[in-house]
Amino acid sequence: MKTSFFAEIILPLSLDGTFTYHLTEKNLQQIKIGQRVSVPFGTQKLYTGIVHSIHENAPELYKTKGIHAFLDDEPLVTVTQIKFWEWIANYYMCSLGDIFRNAFPSALKLESQTFVRLINPNYETLEELNDYEFLVFEALKLREIISVEEAALIVDEKSAIPTLKLLIDKGIIRLDEKLNEKYTPKIDNYVRLHSDLKGNEQQFLEVLNQLAKAPKQREALLQLITLETQLQDKPLKVADFVKQGATNAVIKSLAEKGAVEIYQHQTSRVDNGIEETEKVSELTLKQEEAFNQIKEQFKDKSTVLLHGVTSSGKTEIYLKLMQQVIAKGNKILYLLPEISVTTQIVHRIKKNFGDKVGVYHSKFNQNERVELWQKTLIGDFDIIIGPRSALFLPFDNLGMIIVDEEHESSYKQMDTKPFFHARDMSMLLGGMMNAKVLLGSATPSAESYYNATQKKYGYVVLNERFGQIKLPEINLIDLKKAQKQKEITEDISHILRDEIFEQLNHKKQVILFQNRRGYAPIMECNTCGHTPECPNCDVSLTYHKFSNQLKCHYCGYAQAKPMRCPSCGSHELNTKGIGTEQIEQQIQNIFPEARVRRMDVDAMRGKFAYEKLIEDFQNKEIDILIGTQMITKGFDFDNVDFVGVIRADSLLNFPDFRAHEKAFQLLTQVAGRAGRRQEQGKVLIQSFQPEHQILQNVTTYSYAPTMKDILYERKEFIYPPFARLIKLRFKHKSKERLDKTAEQLVVLLKSSFDSRCLLGPEAPSIGRVNNLYITDVLIKIRPTQSPQKIKKLIQDKINQLHTIAAYRSVRIDIDVDPV
Ligand code: ADP
Ligand code: ZN
Ligand code: ZN
Repeated sequence: MKTSFFAEIILPLSLDGTFTYHLTEKNLQQIKIGQRVSVPFGTQKLYTGIVHSIHENAPELYKTKGIHAFLDDEPLVTVTQIKFWEWIANYYMCSLGDIFRNAFPSALKLESQTFVRLINPNYETLEELNDYEFLVFEALKLREIISVEEAALIVDEKSAIPTLKLLIDKGIIRLDEKLNEKYTPKIDNYVRLHSDLKGNEQQFLEVLNQLAKAPKQREALLQLITLETQLQDKPLKVADFVKQGATNAVIKSLAEKGAVEIYQHQTSRVDNGIEETEKVSELTLKQEEAFNQIKEQFKDKSTVLLHGVTSSGKTEIYLKLMQQVIAKGNKILYLLPEISVTTQIVHRIKKNFGDKVGVYHSKFNQNERVELWQKTLIGDFDIIIGPRSALFLPFDNLGMIIVDEEHESSYKQMDTKPFFHARDMSMLLGGMMNAKVLLGSATPSAESYYNATQKKYGYVVLNERFGQIKLPEINLIDLKKAQKQKEITEDISHILRDEIFEQLNHKKQVILFQNRRGYAPIMECNTCGHTPECPNCDVSLTYHKFSNQLKCHYCGYAQAKPMRCPSCGSHELNTKGIGTEQIEQQIQNIFPEARVRRMDVDAMRGKFAYEKLIEDFQNKEIDILIGTQMITKGFDFDNVDFVGVIRADSLLNFPDFRAHEKAFQLLTQVAGRAGRRQEQGKVLIQSFQPEHQILQNVTTYSYAPTMKDILYERKEFIYPPFARLIKLRFKHKSKERLDKTAEQLVVLLKSSFDSRCLLGPEAPSIGRVNNLYITDVLIKIRPTQSPQKIKKLIQDKINQLHTIAAYRSVRIDIDVDPV
């Protein structure tokens, strides 16, 4: 019997496993693992898939379909990546398709975006066409190109594929793969002296003569020659030539006369502007010591935690390490919590390594993502800088992964599957690629710190600021006392006010931190106590004075601020709580001459808003910068000696087992922005509870004692790192059905867990978002248990639950290691 071959294909679907397709002889010669293919799936759709594997086992239960088309000659996904995806799917309990969908640039996925093109408009034997074929043919005569989806609309059937197949067989149409790529290379027009004139003096003079009556064209031609000499054969864009004074009309006329040539060329979107490269700085003795320890510890540890106080020069150490990794011919992935707020670091790295640095920007559009993917695949970059999603690029030959600010919770993906943690997954990827992982932070996460003390990771401490500048002096301001003694104007205590005044007097810039955006988180009627809430979520609306709106920060709902109380009609609407907008206003009132700016999500719309603001601040065009935690991430300014925290309390009172850890980290990081260059900085923290242990520890830089307390509690109450957590989040529009389903699952799970390890169902603090009710079940896995077995158990119980139709409609998101 003839053997037949099959391919397993990864499809971008939330369904388990891969899907089997049969291969023709011809397919077999073409196919490669990691290659992009389009395949039919279901009744109507064509999907883009990735070749996972090739085998000879025909599925028993169903008849396989064939591959529709190979979309590229070479794989776009590496074999290592496929393994990496499988591991993540397994660990985070999601499908390979969930990862493919999230990891792969969507511009390279075609999902029924295939187009058909008319290739034989003169087809004559119309009587051979059935009605459907005729309709599509007619439509194509008008349009030439239509999408497969449009074709389905034209034939008014679920799928147009059968019809299109017939038309293809008759040679009337073809499927067009080029067109359906959402990725379009960026093509620019370039201009150069016509090749006929190059080195042909006589002919050149002739042309110049002919132009005697067109002085503008003549001048432009001469200018072009000068520019070409200056550019030393680098291509010149028409647009740039125009910037130099030539007009499009002049260039066009010159081209028509054969004096110049206009040609097209693909321009890279991800190329960096030309930047001067500098040498990596000499390390100080302390830094050198840390650097050597890191290298030493990497000899027998695959992960090292670099615990270096703010401004100790961690970045300088990274640069030096990068240099050595590159010298060995390996590549580096440098992960940052949020790329958009770390332009300063990107700039520093580019300064040292020039155009061998690829930056994956979270605000990149689809085309830019594709180019970065392709450039990574061919190994164009030595260093890739990016946020958590950069972990999914097709690396080869990685030598090191640096996870900067490893304590940041934005490394965890929370909105879409897979709910992965980039720090944890970087260790997995590092293991697969034989790359070392360096975690860096001034305030390491409890987990990493614990792993370091347990000798699972190497641990290197750097406790001195660069230049031996002392860490800022941190003092607390008691808001209760300030209020009682009337030493406060609105929310700014007079101590804080005077300090800002002092700083401005010395031409210093000031950073103020307030954790909430908007004007006020709550509006309240003075007469009846009514508080406007979001119609879609169980949360009060935040008042935004600037846009005069009430907004929901969870679903984006917005309405104009009402003139009267919607409940009793009273005019007396008051606000409660404070946001950045309100602080901005208060500060502006106190310092009318100062240039005050705000940095929060609302103020940072637009692609280069951050970059612009950072530049303005660096250029001293801003005196006082007020911001949310955005201002904490990697900011390094030389003219800031003072940082103020408007209200620390909201940080301390979060209902979350990580609240204290996060509050300590955030406040320490905020404080770390002060006094980074010349002298010791100062920090003032306003709070209603200055006696709070966390605040006390922040002022004394007591990291280790804080961790000791936190770890003690975590152990006592069975939380990470002394247990692994799995959160099951249920969502449904009917509260009743939601609760019943969650309760039923708990009933199924109960016998397998002790009561301390199975919590809920319990609604989170915001129990309804976007019209979906939410409830959580939390499972704790003790170190003695096998996480793999428990995950399987959970999956089995969910499957069992789903045998009953009524429970199936409730969505269950499984979040492994929630943060
Ligand atoms: P961290 O990453 O630990 O917060 P940075 O690397 O940003 O610290 O260093 C703080 C500042 O000190 C930066 O402006 C940096 O350029 C400077 N700096 C640190 N180490 C050196 C060094 N060895 N030589 C020159 N400048 C240094
Ligand atoms: Zn009212
Ligand atoms: Zn809402």
